[in-house]
Amino acid sequence: MSRRAGILRELGLGPLWRLRDRPAAAVVPESAEVAPEPASAGAGTDDRAAAIARMDWSGLIDAVKQCSACGLCRARKQAVPGVGDPQADWLFVGEGPGAEEDERGEPFVGQAGKLLDAMLAAIDLRRGEKVYIANAVKCRPPNNRTPEAGETAACWPFLARQIGLIRPKLVVALGRPAAQTLLQSEVKISAARGRLFDYQGIPLVVTYHPAYLLRNLPDKAKAWEDLCFMRRTMGKL
Ligand code: URA
Repeated sequence: MSRRAGILRELGLGPLWRLRDRPAAAVVPESAEVAPEPASAGAGTDDRAAAIARMDWSGLIDAVKQCSACGLCRARKQAVPGVGDPQADWLFVGEGPGAEEDERGEPFVGQAGKLLDAMLAAIDLRRGEKVYIANAVKCRPPNNRTPEAGETAACWPFLARQIGLIRPKLVVALGRPAAQTLLQSEVKISAARGRLFDYQGIPLVVTYHPAYLLRNLPDKAKAWEDLCFMRRTMGKL
């Protein structure tokens, strides 16, 4: 079995979907939808955000590791800043660390991470090679619950600075919390996938979270379409 066939089998796509060697003609909207500036929550918050917006990589990683801006710091083993190429073309943004990520300090290293790696491989990407992986919140929400709005807001300056330092060519929001954090609006993945958004001049696309795909196998075919859309979009940038 070829490497790609193995990956597609891992994605649960069997022989149904094949990646063309050359991307098909892209259907990218003429004008991407532009995300508004995130709202701020007051003077102290603004000062903190402004300080984070000036940080270099090492200052940023230290600040993430020492952060106590929200209650998630109380139950974490460690904060999980992100992993990958600081000059990545691709930035994948998930929701928040789970138990294994909290243990190991790296995003997407559990079951969802294995699927994410397979999804990356399906479009010839590998973690760390022109790819950076981060989360909307850097500390594990207890019992893997969805991060609350106040938690994603408190963590937002870190993600914003990561994007500012990396300046990726394309941002991929994995799942609803990541999409809503980045786009600062209500997002329904089924409605937003296949569309091109804009985050401060950087194209942004939305797809299902790998953990969701593990529970909803039929939607893996849609995720495959999204991967093809991402690849086509990147091919035009
Ligand atoms: N799910 C996420 O959203 N992020 C991780 O790092 C792991 C699982």
